[in-house]
Amino acid sequence: MTGSVIIAGLGPGRESLVVPEVQEALAQATDIVGYIPYVRRVADRAGLTKHESDNRVELDRAAHALEMAAEGKRVVVVSSGDPGVFAMASALFEALEKGPQAWLALDIRVVPGITAMLAAAARLGAPLGHDFAAINLSDNLKPWELIEKRLRLAGQAGFAMGFYNPRSKSRPHQFARALEILREECGSETLISFARAVSTPDETIRTVTLAEATPEMADMRTMVIVGNRDTRRVGPHIYTPRSAS
Ligand code: SAH
Repeated sequence: MTGSVIIAGLGPGRESLVVPEVQEALAQATDIVGYIPYVRRVADRAGLTKHESDNRVELDRAAHALEMAAEGKRVVVVSSGDPGVFAMASALFEALEKGPQAWLALDIRVVPGITAMLAAAARLGAPLGHDFAAINLSDNLKPWELIEKRLRLAGQAGFAMGFYNPRSKSRPHQFARALEILREECGSETLISFARAVSTPDETIRTVTLAEATPEMADMRTMVIVGNRDTRRVGPHIYTPRSAS
């Protein structure tokens, strides 16, 4: 029997936001692999083995999944949101590239999930209704100078933006710097939204202007969405018109 690896996204949190194709993959799996909190979101059942791993060991985790598939298992690698957005799908293909030739014969498939940026945008209204850029603010896998450059150029180009991993305890000053750059490039009246723990019982949503924004408004459970210069409020909703001024 040939094993398989499905790299699946569990969505932003709420059970009803897990797409049916992912639910089906989880129901058929013999083994689940992933970062501890995501693996714990999958219910236990007979015949299912759960392999929890720590953060930042993505390549080892991916290689482990491929090894088990080579032994004939039906492995599902879980990420939050969508597995292709700052998550496990790329790590899996990187491990495949580095691994033994035989792994290339495995059945490997990515099943999408609802990414945090789109769940947050939906909660706000339609802040990403025109062109936008998705940027990971963590400098774990790229230099901070590159992040600053991308923020500046995206701001100059008039993109709305969605920021993943906006702020962590290990790098508290960088998000303050990001806000400074945004004020310079986008104007201080541009709207910025902080959508925390979207679709979970801890959800909080807040929108202010860039002038009013402070670094403490974001943490690692927050998706930050910055509008373009046309983004505005209509009643309690935030939206970006489909046409640019
Ligand atoms: N693959 C995931 C993103 C992983 S990066 C996806 O597609 O959503 C982790 C970052 O995603 C967090 O730091 C946070 O910025 C964001 N995030 C994930 N789930 C979230 C949620 N429920 N609410 C708000 N932001 C979330």
